[in-house]
Amino acid sequence: MNALPLFGIAALIGALIAITRTQGPTDVNALQPATTRRINRDFTRLDPSFRARLERMLAELNAEGFDAIMWEGYRTPERAKDMVARGVGKLESMHRLGLAADIISAKDRWNASLAFRNALHDAAARNGLTSGLAGDPWHVQALPWEYDARLFAMAADKRTEFVRTLRG
Ligand SMILES: [Zn+2]
Repeated sequence: MNALPLFGIAALIGALIAITRTQGPTDVNALQPATTRRINRDFTRLDPSFRARLERMLAELNAEGFDAIMWEGYRTPERAKDMVARGVGKLESMHRLGLAADIISAKDRWNASLAFRNALHDAAARNGLTSGLAGDPWHVQALPWEYDARLFAMAADKRTEFVRTLRG
């Protein structure tokens, strides 16, 4: 058998995987029929003090001339599981606690400029939010990464109070 066609097929598969990986959640969402598995953009599902800081951050960014929007906020356990099965996100994500949001450009989506990403990072820090996760510049969450496990172990009411007390 000639090795050349096989190499061609392998290269094609590689390219398809690369395309799939860079497309982002738009297409991922299209594959999810169940409501609980869809992307949620409802600000009322977020932790109240996180929501207040997030909305202030978005207002500041957009006052600077950017077009920042929340792509995803609260995430159901079902959706988190689906994502992990596809090799993205993590099971114990702050999204599941309403303590994280993914912020992208309305026009450029995940191709937002470096200026956008820098402004997002700065605005997050100004509002006491954590961002700058390696490989995921869009993710913003209520508290630093080292609190993740602790927050997951807390009862919901304790968690709300903890976040509010810590960050106002
Ligand atoms: Zn995220």
